[in-house]
Formats: sequence, C-alpha cells, structure tokens
Amino acid sequence: MTTVTRDALMRTYPDPPVTFVRGEGSWLWDGEGRRYLDFVSGLAVTSLGHAHPAVADALAEQARTLLHVSNLYGTIVGPEVAAALDRLLGGGGQVFFCNSGAEANECAIKLARRWGGHGRHVVVSAYGSFHGRTLATLHATGQPAKHEAFQPLPEGFRHVAWDDVGALEAAIDPTVAAVLLEPVQGEGGVNPATPEYLAAVRRLCDERGVLLMLDEVQTGLGRTGAWFAHQRLGVRPDVVTMAKALGNGVPIGACWARREVAAAFAPGDHATTFGGQPLATAAARAVLAVMEAEDVPARAERAGARLRGALARVPGVSAVRGLGLLLAAEISSRPAREVVAAALQAGLLVNPVTDSAIRLAPSLLVTDDETDEAVRILTEVLS
Ligand SMILES: *Cc1c(COP(=O)(O)O)cnc(C)c1O
Repeated sequence: MTTVTRDALMRTYPDPPVTFVRGEGSWLWDGEGRRYLDFVSGLAVTSLGHAHPAVADALAEQARTLLHVSNLYGTIVGPEVAAALDRLLGGGGQVFFCNSGAEANECAIKLARRWGGHGRHVVVSAYGSFHGRTLATLHATGQPAKHEAFQPLPEGFRHVAWDDVGALEAAIDPTVAAVLLEPVQGEGGVNPATPEYLAAVRRLCDERGVLLMLDEVQTGLGRTGAWFAHQRLGVRPDVVTMAKALGNGVPIGACWARREVAAAFAPGDHATTFGGQPLATAAARAVLAVMEAEDVPARAERAGARLRGALARVPGVSAVRGLGLLLAAEISSRPAREVVAAALQAGLLVNPVTDSAIRLAPSLLVTDDETDEAVRILTEVLS
C-alpha cells in the first residue's frame, strides 16, 4: 500500500483515485505494482510516452554539464530549439521560451498589447475555450463560471460564440489587438474548428489589422496529425503558443510570433528566470529529434484513424470527434465520470472532458496492440 499524506498540499484538486510511482511508454504503475494503460498522457504532455530513454539521457547529460544560467547570458541549446520550432512552423518567426502553457499565452497577450499600442489592447477569445489559470489567461478563458470567484480580473478581454464569424466581426472594434483561438478546443470538449471558420477569421483579422493568435498548447507538436493543427486546417497565424508536449513532461512553453510582430518587444519588455534554460531546452531538443525521426504527425494520423474507427464501433459510443490522437468519445449510455472511474478500475486512464464525453490522448508512439487493449477495456466497461 502506498500511503502518502497530502495534508500539506493546497486542495486545488479533489483527492486522487490512484498514486503512480513509475511509467514506461504507454504504461503507468501504482505502488502495489498494478499496471495501467495511459490514454491521458499527463493531459497531452507525454507524447513520446513515459521515461523515453532519449529524453532521459539528454536530461542526465545536460544536468551534469550546465543546468541553468540567467538569460542575461547566452547558452547554446535554447537558440537551437527556437530555430527548430521556427522551421516546423514554416519559418519567418521568433520564439520566447517560458515554463507553461499559461505563461506562453501571457507572452502572447503582452506581445499583442505592445504591438497594438495604448488604446488597442483587447484580446477576443471564444466561449468554451481554455487558455490557462493566471489572472489574464483565466479572463481569456471563455468560461464565465471560472471567473466569478476571482473578480476583478485584468481588463481587456472579450468573448464570442465559437464558430460564429458574425459574432467575431461584431466584437472587433478599434480597441482590439488580437483574436486568440484554439484550433481544437481541448478542455472545452475536443471541438475542432472548421477550416472555413479559421479562413474567415484570418480574412477578418487581415481586414481589421488584428493579430490572429492560436493557442496550440494542447494541439501542437504532432498530436493532431500535423506538426501544428493550423497547418492541417489551412490557416497561417501571426502568433502560436505551445507547451504541453514540448518537453515530454519537463516544464517548458514557447510563444512564436512572425518576425514583424515579435519586433514589438524591446529588451526589458518581457522576461523569465527559468524560461529557455539549458535543462528544459535540452529536453525539448531531444523531444523534437525523436518526433522528427519517428514522424509523429504521420503516426498520430494513422493511429488516430485506427482508434477512431474502433471507438465508433463500441456499443454505447454515439460519436467520436477530434483530430489525430486528440479524440473525444461521446457516450450515450452512462455519465462520462462513471465511465472514467470504471475504466480506471479496469486499468485504463481516460478523462471526462464534458459530462457526456471522455477524452483519449495516448502517446503518439502508441502501438496497435495498446489501442486494441484500450478499446477492449472500454467495450467491457460500457457493456
Ligand atoms: C493546458 C492548456 C493551457 C494551460 O497550460 P498550463 O501549462 O497548465 O499553464 C493553455 N491552453 C490550452 C489550450 C491548454 O490545453
């Protein structure tokens, strides 16, 4: 029995149903040696699976070489990773490194304000979105119920209905600097934007001289079957934020912007103690090298199509949505929470993304046998 007292932790999460002590690939182990198939991946973080040897080796070697110096000084790894990310994004941009998704969005919001200038600072985002838990990113998050306890929130945020071009058109006045959207709303229920919506948003942003900023914190780095979801949805953003999968579990985030937009920041406008440090960027460098060698976008597309097809045939699943390996299964027979609890008992980790849908976000290196096993467990749970 693993007994840990959580008394000294703030209660920002409910009591956990299980305590994990080890992971490898798509599998996790609890203190009793019981094995679980992980289709949550730390919420789309461990895209290369747990304890990936290339990432572990890179971390160990970097920890013995140079772990951290201030951003007042130059280092080797960060600039290399920035160039690699810029290449994956099609080039012509620059990167700011930070430590989380919320921080990547904070950078984007501050950049939009600096770019827009005084009086042109409003960021428009969508209802149902999730952009983080800091005060500014919480306000950008289009879930008013989450705002109430923390009012007053920073000024300068406005929300519009998702997938409604007319609503966005009406919301963009001369005070607006940027539109911030997820190409697939992750926490909001795994709702992909249509290419038509994003194309119309791009056109509108161009007409009104407003930045299009895409939050790819959850969708970025191969998960949706492209390096970035916007690439398969056919739109070119001005700013892209990312985090979750970039370090395969090592905290790192990044905000990329087109060079002309990034130029709005002058030295002193934004900064971070840890962001871009050698340890975190060494993890990211190893992650990107494995991702490119394995062609994870193609793997996510293939494994996603297979999983999607199998899920659609499970009795009790009424619909499957998402892109690549960021999927949600709509369950008609039982509440999502019950399904998630029963799946855990049966050795599968999934999470409820709405009252009626579960999210599946396995490692992008997941095997056919592992997806078959996940579908077998869900079939058993739902029967
Ligand atoms: C997880 C997430 C965030 C917040 O990331 P943190 O690292 O928890 O701050 C922001 N945006 C999206 C789309 C996310 O999925």
